[in-house]
Amino acid sequence: MIVDRVTVAETDEGWLRSARVTGRSGELTLEFHVPAVDGSTPHTEDAAAFLAATLLPAMLDGEDLRVDAPVSARTLSGSDEVVTAFTRWDHRLRPPTITTAGPVEPRPPASATGCCFSRGADSMVSAVVERAPAETLTHLIHVVGLEPVHSPATQAEEIRLARHVGDLVGLPVVVPRTNVRRLTDGRCDWADAHGATLASLALATDGLFGRVVVPSTQAVDEIVPFGSSPILEPHLSSESVTVVHDSVSLDRVGKVVLLARDRPDLLPHLKVCWAEDRPDNCGRCGKCLLTMCALQAADALHLATGFPDRIPLEEIRRLRPAPIQSRQHWVAVARALGADGDRGATRGAVLEALRRAARPGPRERALQWWEFLRGRRADPAPSWKDPARGFEWRHHTEMLSLMQRGRPARPISPQAEEPTVLARARPRGD
Ligand SMILES: [Zn+2]
Repeated sequence: MIVDRVTVAETDEGWLRSARVTGRSGELTLEFHVPAVDGSTPHTEDAAAFLAATLLPAMLDGEDLRVDAPVSARTLSGSDEVVTAFTRWDHRLRPPTITTAGPVEPRPPASATGCCFSRGADSMVSAVVERAPAETLTHLIHVVGLEPVHSPATQAEEIRLARHVGDLVGLPVVVPRTNVRRLTDGRCDWADAHGATLASLALATDGLFGRVVVPSTQAVDEIVPFGSSPILEPHLSSESVTVVHDSVSLDRVGKVVLLARDRPDLLPHLKVCWAEDRPDNCGRCGKCLLTMCALQAADALHLATGFPDRIPLEEIRRLRPAPIQSRQHWVAVARALGADGDRGATRGAVLEALRRAARPGPRERALQWWEFLRGRRADPAPSWKDPARGFEWRHHTEMLSLMQRGRPARPISPQAEEPTVLARARPRGD
């Protein structure tokens, strides 16, 4: 994969960083439109944003990566850690050889700190949580171009609502635009790509932000292979933009409880759903249902007016949460709901869904066997999920196979397999 024609041009709003990306799967002019704030000007030379954006796409294409522009030495060296994670999480990916036009002259970082902000529970908490003075946020960053199904009307409403929440939390909202998702859409699960993609966006704001916070998805006891992780994004930092993966101390329930307790005024604007083209929540997808249950556990569902006011228990019973991380989210919700009244009824539905995910009824079981015998499913085990869907699913399948069958899901080859070792020892001293 080749990244060339790297340019930075002034625009009416600020600046446009663009580059041509040519790979086995086609050609794309990759763009990051960044608004100027308070006279900020871009650091012009660093192509680190394009390196971060193309690492996974190059690996998906099975290609080496050549960036025909100078790149931050820190980002280049940190990318080894990211490449190693990707190759360990999916054995089909191989480490690319990465070449650049050399290191950039480091510039002092800008003083502003931005935080990626979508109005989801993760980013709402990141926007309001107390921080040390040196780490205090100065802006929220609402990126246009990362939501897959938004019409222009929904996009405009999303921006309006993000700015409204920005007013409520006292932070101005910056709205960059990008087409970076086109590098990975249809080629891998968005969950696999989104951390490196947000890091690339952060690097594209070089000159405006010196620090960019990526809200965390996983809590400390839920960390499994996943495309946004405390072990990924920070490694893509450059000398002038530090990419921070935010605290992993809270799980989904903890985040909702914090918002309900400390910032209930934000709950009407909570938006977690990406399933439909709308600025509020569908109330039926797994993410909506999980958040609604967490809101009920925090006695705050009535405040979150962007959701239906009743939880459809039948929909919850029908859920079959698959990867272990998702099951852990539901267990945390069940614990927080308690056993009494409506909350107890919701807990009952959640526990049934979890039980049925592991031990389905005879009809479901028969269907799974039928699919297995027809070759549409590699394994009849009820918890099996297609590992080709992404890092998290691959990990889940591997754990399942080791625990249930006592052998790895990916067969061990007769020949010795060479482990990936990108690190090098220092030359032996005299
Ligand atoms: Zn939804």
